[in-house]
Amino acid sequence: MLSREVFIVLNLISLVIMVICVRLVANKTEGFAIRLRRLIMAAAVGVSACVYVAMAPTAISAEVAFCIYFGSLDWVAFYLLGFFLKYTNHQKLYKITYWPVLIMVVCDTISIFLNLVLGHQFSVYKLEFDGEFYYQYTYSWPYILHLILDYAVIGIGFITIVIAMFKSVSFYKIKYICVFSVVSVLIALNMVYLAFSMPLDWSVTFYAFGSMLIYYYSIHYTPQNLIGSAIKRATNEMNEGLIMFDLDNNCIYINEFIRKYFGIMDISECKIDSIPMQTIVVGDDIGNVDDIKQIVVEGKDGNRDERFRVHFSRLKNKKNKDLGAYFRLERITDEYENMILLKNAREEANRANKAKSDFLANMSHEIRTPINSILGMNEMVIRECDDEQIVEYAQNIQSAGNSLLGLINDILDFSKVEAGKMDLVIDTYNIHKILRDALHMLESRAVEKGLKLDIVCDENIPMGLSGDENRIRQIITNIVTNGIKYTKEGGVTVKVECDILNDDEARLVFEISDTGIGISEENMATLFSAFHRVDESRNRNIEGTGLGLAITKQLLELMDGDVFVESEVNKGSVFTVIIPQGITDKKPVGKFSRTIEVKKNGYKESFTAPTAKVLVVDDVPMNIKVVQALLKKTQINIDTTTNGNEAFEMCKNKKYDVILMDHMMPEPDGIATLKMIREEGLNKDSCVIVLTANAINGVEKEYLEVGFADYMSKPVKGEVLEKMLMKYLPKDKLE
Ligand code: ADP
Repeated sequence: MLSREVFIVLNLISLVIMVICVRLVANKTEGFAIRLRRLIMAAAVGVSACVYVAMAPTAISAEVAFCIYFGSLDWVAFYLLGFFLKYTNHQKLYKITYWPVLIMVVCDTISIFLNLVLGHQFSVYKLEFDGEFYYQYTYSWPYILHLILDYAVIGIGFITIVIAMFKSVSFYKIKYICVFSVVSVLIALNMVYLAFSMPLDWSVTFYAFGSMLIYYYSIHYTPQNLIGSAIKRATNEMNEGLIMFDLDNNCIYINEFIRKYFGIMDISECKIDSIPMQTIVVGDDIGNVDDIKQIVVEGKDGNRDERFRVHFSRLKNKKNKDLGAYFRLERITDEYENMILLKNAREEANRANKAKSDFLANMSHEIRTPINSILGMNEMVIRECDDEQIVEYAQNIQSAGNSLLGLINDILDFSKVEAGKMDLVIDTYNIHKILRDALHMLESRAVEKGLKLDIVCDENIPMGLSGDENRIRQIITNIVTNGIKYTKEGGVTVKVECDILNDDEARLVFEISDTGIGISEENMATLFSAFHRVDESRNRNIEGTGLGLAITKQLLELMDGDVFVESEVNKGSVFTVIIPQGITDKKPVGKFSRTIEVKKNGYKESFTAPTAKVLVVDDVPMNIKVVQALLKKTQINIDTTTNGNEAFEMCKNKKYDVILMDHMMPEPDGIATLKMIREEGLNKDSCVIVLTANAINGVEKEYLEVGFADYMSKPVKGEVLEKMLMKYLPKDKLE
């Protein structure tokens, strides 16, 4: 048997360890750690008392120490229960048991200390072999009660840990196994002590070792292990591949994803320059991989082209020293395939869009060509016919022809904006000009219907504004045309104001009100939808396509502007248009005057040029006739041809002042003919103007880029044609 001295030395060492443990747990704030600290403190008291018992000089002091030791076991049991319940997250049970157990423990402690007075728990006996006093229990009823209480308390805690151990899944079991083992050993040792009625409780020597184990296990090992296991589990379930290398480029970790996609069984196969690692990481410096890699992966159902985006990162410590590196592989095979599909779809859509644009260009060209002839010839009838009845018929043809042209323009505009091909042409303009143009265009229509068309323009609007004058005119004309179309009595008023925001920016506000049929509340929502005419039954007799407001809205969006409508059925509507514009001249524009050129009844040529020579090239003879007729009174010498090659030959023999060239002709077309003429150095000083039915947005620029001096779209008006020639004919030839 071990001697008393060994017992004392071992337990003193235990005490030191326990004090260290208490200090280590001192700064932990978790509920279980607080209980653990108190548990170790109570155990330390018990161990100290045992040490004293072993070296007690008198029987009475040995008995007091024995009482302290016995009492401390009550508190060890109490805090052990607290520790178990907190550690296993049994908060509710902790709350329920706290007070009853505390009261019982206090009572038991008191009863133990009454032993001194009542002497009913322990008896003192003297060991024969060394003559020292040792205290030992007797199986009296208070002592048995004391044992039952302590074991019941420990038992509850023990059951909770066993339940937690069985209930927990996977790596969470680790959390409880060690605590369970340590406490089991303690209980077993205590039972041995009881069973053999040993003079000294050797089981307390294990308290220090147990405390240390529980401290290390619950505070360090378990949380770290849980984190490690959880991370491992998470990385294995990750939908991305993870490969880690140490500083010497040895692979230290691969997750399930890598095993699955690259068929790797063992980490030792993952040398950095082995297959398949090579496909992933080699080829670049290990630090520079961030790329999409095409990797052919051998799958169950044959080889498959997989695509991975490879991300590379270095692992560093807190001092920024390299610890290794890791690769993250994002599988983007599906994304890549979708990308390809999307790319194909986009190309397909672009092709379709191009086909649409081509169709529009062709349609526009094909329709404009005959309209050109109709309107041109019709203008000749109006100019030259003296029979009023026939002139009236011709004027009707002119009006219908212009409507048809407006329709084609609307459809073209709409598809241009939709295709994002509408460009704004920003220039300086004067607001009065826009208003006068609109008035000029629309007043006759209003007068015909017996409507008033008023314009109220703020005098303080800056004289020079910058914006797309033509598009603003188009917007205002659209809305005012509607006002006239949908009003039977009264009239339309256009009010223009301007908010000056700063030296360079202003906001133009147009308020166009009519006294017409109005728009009902439910129709407001679809007012700006393309091809949508509201209230069809009421408006059946009013011509329109339902495109005007859609284009207006789109144009305004393009200009960062907006439009608002207020309307009352049978009372009228107010359209408010807001357009941000630049300011180029701050001077006030002044009073608006309606001085509109009174339309002359008869046509009068704007100039004559009997010495000027013009060549007209167009494959449609009717178009040539139109130009000839429109220019008849100017007395210009006009040569014509329907063929590019012939035009080229003609240029060899004659010098023309201006050449009017069609574009779409059978080989060579207008552009090729122009090139031939220019390359040959013929008619160097003459201006070649393209006169084409191609009115798609942007073509003007293209024509100018290939070398045409200017652009005119068909159907051409006599007035426009004369203006253009006045600009390009030599001044000395104009009379
Ligand atoms: P439309 O070519 O039919 O005039 P719009 O896009 O210009 O096409 O207008 C769409 C619809 O909005 C019209 O069909 C008409 O019913 C209604 N609308 C537009 N302006 C007015 C207005 N000033 N008064 C009454 N209804 C209007």
